[in-house]
Amino acid sequence: MSSLIELKNTSKIFGTGWFSRKTVALRDFSISVNEDEPAITALVGESGSGKTTIARLILGIIPPTTGEVLYRGKAVAQLSRAERRQFRRDVQVIFQDPFEVYNPFYKVDHALHLPVRKAGLASSRDEAVEIIETTLRQVGLNPRDTLGRYPHQLSGGQRQRVMVARALLLNPKLIVADEPVSMVDASLRATILENLRLLNTEFGISIIYITHDLTTAYEISEKIVVLYRGVVAEQGDVVPVVEEPEHPYTQLLIGSIPMPDPDQKWQQGLEVVSPTTDGADDTMNAEYTGCQFADRCPHAMDICQVAAPLYQTAPNRVVSCHLYRETAVV
Ligand code: SF4
Repeated sequence: MSSLIELKNTSKIFGTGWFSRKTVALRDFSISVNEDEPAITALVGESGSGKTTIARLILGIIPPTTGEVLYRGKAVAQLSRAERRQFRRDVQVIFQDPFEVYNPFYKVDHALHLPVRKAGLASSRDEAVEIIETTLRQVGLNPRDTLGRYPHQLSGGQRQRVMVARALLLNPKLIVADEPVSMVDASLRATILENLRLLNTEFGISIIYITHDLTTAYEISEKIVVLYRGVVAEQGDVVPVVEEPEHPYTQLLIGSIPMPDPDQKWQQGLEVVSPTTDGADDTMNAEYTGCQFADRCPHAMDICQVAAPLYQTAPNRVVSCHLYRETAVV
């Protein structure tokens, strides 16, 4: 199995100056994206959980403080110019609000021609247009209704699809989708999720889907990583994790999902998924070595003053909680 991107025991600590408080955005995190098995993996957590830090590490935007970020087995920081160019093509990102990435003074054509030119995908303008039109059709857009228009002349769904086409142009192996549905209405959300599924099933692209929304994570992903204050709470195949959560934090998240029954009030714990949590206050103090969830956990014990390792509770499942120290399979 060949690994496209691998994060090996990565940690990211901010605030390393003399007087600044050190905060751990991510501690000892590992994940591997395999080229041969394109899958959708959801990174779920509230603000300050470390999911955006993971995205930035994968994209090579920031280096880890400790640990390694590997692209095809080689440290990203040590890639040659040619390898880095290939890395930039293989790993693409789709942002939350596509409108923000377009320059309102340029037609959308500009956003599509730029990557074609930068990556040297075409030897003439006609060839570039052909490549762009083919890609637009692949994501369900009619080139005649799309090209030659300014971003504000397209619907939200069309802008999202253009952004998907833009990523697809470079024939990526992995797309990091950073909160792509957090600020959109229900119909656009369905379109975006459908696009992500399409990229995975039709084009064999792995997706890292970053969200604070457990429901959409359950809907489209095969694997899930639940993060809390920079550490993994629970990780595994999405169905068992969501349907039978083991970590007390995941249980709280599941308990906070509103029930479809109109007589059923929203359950306690809803605030745990609130994106209004101030990430800066919610990140981990570097000096603290206990379980990050201890101050909110109903099962906290003396032993929880030391963080639990990742206990394997099933073949594809790990949980960081002392409640499983005696029943873990490994
Ligand atoms: Fe709760 Fe302890 Fe498990 Fe942390 S390790 S989630 S405090 S029981």
